[in-house]
Amino acid sequence: MLSVQNLHKQFDELVVLDGIDLQVNKGKVIVVIGPSGSGKTTLLRCLNVLETPTKGKVSVNNMELDFSQKVSKKDIQTLRKQTGMVFQTYNLFPHMTALQNVIEGPVTVQKVAKTNAQQKGKQLLEKVGLGDKLDYYPHQLSGGQQQRVGIARALAIDPEVLLFDEPTSALDPELVGEVLKVMKELAEEGMTMVVVTHEMNFAKEVADEVIFMDGGRIVERGTPTQLFTEPQNNRTRQFLNLIN
Ligand code: ADP
Repeated sequence: MLSVQNLHKQFDELVVLDGIDLQVNKGKVIVVIGPSGSGKTTLLRCLNVLETPTKGKVSVNNMELDFSQKVSKKDIQTLRKQTGMVFQTYNLFPHMTALQNVIEGPVTVQKVAKTNAQQKGKQLLEKVGLGDKLDYYPHQLSGGQQQRVGIARALAIDPEVLLFDEPTSALDPELVGEVLKVMKELAEEGMTMVVVTHEMNFAKEVADEVIFMDGGRIVERGTPTQLFTEPQNNRTRQFLNLIN
């Protein structure tokens, strides 16, 4: 479904991703954990080509982009349509209602007819529990509600994979649960997901595989039980001790 081979990303002299290999099979949930600055967000942004990798390959559904060569804008657009991104700070358009935010991608990028997009957008907002907030603007919604609009928007392009970049870390604690609940439901429905998060309970309950990153590399990977109860690497142990 999603595969990453030997992915590197450098900002000037700073090596942020130093040879990442990753396979995400259909319907699986991969949770990425690691200390601040270890490259988690950059990895997600490279998967969606919001950042251009320095070298390496990203494939989604048999479409492969090799960043050791020049990659065309068209291929980047095609890949982006298959990967929905949910951002830490929601990134909703402030002058658009919840429904307008959700249909923006399908209507302007995918050229879906507006009435069809609206019908589907309503269903998606109902799915994330916001069927009664279609015409609300972001500033009229709580952080948790805005993030659920963000999830509905990411789903609106029918992505093969959903990418979550610390989706709950900007939220007040009492609003975290409602967003995690929606994410858990999506996982149960078989959505393929890559989730960067500090929510270890979510990782324990929902992840098929947990990846621990440090210094731009994957230091350790395994099932939640393996990683949380029998970490093999010292750095993983140190990190888990610090956050527990
Ligand atoms: P994490 O998500 O694990 O906290 P990030 O991927 O955000 O890590 O950042 C990894 C490193 O890359 C950090 O040192 C950060 O300062 C650097 N970095 C991220 N984005 C940029 C950028 N656009 N320009 C320069 N450095 C960046």
